[in-house]
Amino acid sequence: MTPWRPEQIWIAPGEEDTPIARRVRAALPDVPCVTAEVGESAAADRFAAGKRRLVLQRHRGSWLQHCPAGTAGLVCCNYLVVNFASNCPYDCSYCFLQEYIANNPAIKAFTNIDDGLAEIATVLRAHPQRDFRIGTGELADSLALDPITGLTSDLVPFFAAHRNVTLELKTKSDCIDNLLRLDPQDRVVVSWSVNAPTICSNDEAGTASLSERIAAARRVQAAGYRVGFHFDPLIEHPGWAEGYRETVAMIAAVVDPRRIAWISLGSLRLSPGLRTAMRARPTTTQVLGGELVPGPDGKARVWRGLRMQMYRTVEGYLREAFPNVPSYLCMEPASVWQQVRGEVPSDREVAQRLVAGAL
Ligand code: SF4
Repeated sequence: MTPWRPEQIWIAPGEEDTPIARRVRAALPDVPCVTAEVGESAAADRFAAGKRRLVLQRHRGSWLQHCPAGTAGLVCCNYLVVNFASNCPYDCSYCFLQEYIANNPAIKAFTNIDDGLAEIATVLRAHPQRDFRIGTGELADSLALDPITGLTSDLVPFFAAHRNVTLELKTKSDCIDNLLRLDPQDRVVVSWSVNAPTICSNDEAGTASLSERIAAARRVQAAGYRVGFHFDPLIEHPGWAEGYRETVAMIAAVVDPRRIAWISLGSLRLSPGLRTAMRARPTTTQVLGGELVPGPDGKARVWRGLRMQMYRTVEGYLREAFPNVPSYLCMEPASVWQQVRGEVPSDREVAQRLVAGAL
């Protein structure tokens, strides 16, 4: 895939000489760049317009957060998230950012990375007995901006030097060239969100193709990284079972199962606000056409019977292809775990088993 290029770069006053700003300007010498606070777009589809601008600015406030999956009533894997960027150049039809950052849609890369790493180091030092899992892919794709920001050249050496943490870089890109030059010391998992081939082609605009993602996974494995896969969101569509079977087979044909850290399954989840935001934008998606019912967190999901069928079907393909790879359900209540997996581990057990590779 061709790496993303913004049409404009805005650098907040005072941030011009930060390493991130210098790298971005060196990578994109011909992209117009202004030093100013970011202005508002007057475009009709402000969200799409925001995805054409890159803003470099300081992050304010605390960096580390608990993953929102820690919502009451859902089994959680005790995952922490840190956001070194906000928004994503891709445009998946179901992306929750359409609602979450609707009023502030520019693509932001934060310039004070050292502050974030210092905060993480303090937490790791304060809890030497705990094994942390930290991800950067909540409000952004972890690697989509890496060809221009070079962020992984800061992150991988930092996490490689700490023994009680695993960094997860979650992506739908194949932007792995910088990673191949770094030594992760087994502390970094690069994971890909994957879907049935039809969904990847129709609903994940701008992302790497499914084959490109899987080929990239093979290349980072060869460079010493463990990989992960997130079948999330599982989406009902004509031929869904065959589509997910094909995706599992494509991964199994290329990727070394001994170096897969984890695989997750999650159902399509749409908040009322996200459904409204999706309807307000030009879209050809069929995602909104399925029968959805509200869950304990207020988000609509596929009705329970079909959800169970989809989980069991895809889990079956995964067990057959990867019998020893840990897998888990993302953002589902205990009752769904019980029905699909026949057990309800505590949040702590889920986290410990993922670290130990035994879920
Ligand atoms: S890749 Fe992730 S963050 Fe980017 S548009 Fe798709 S769902 Fe949103």
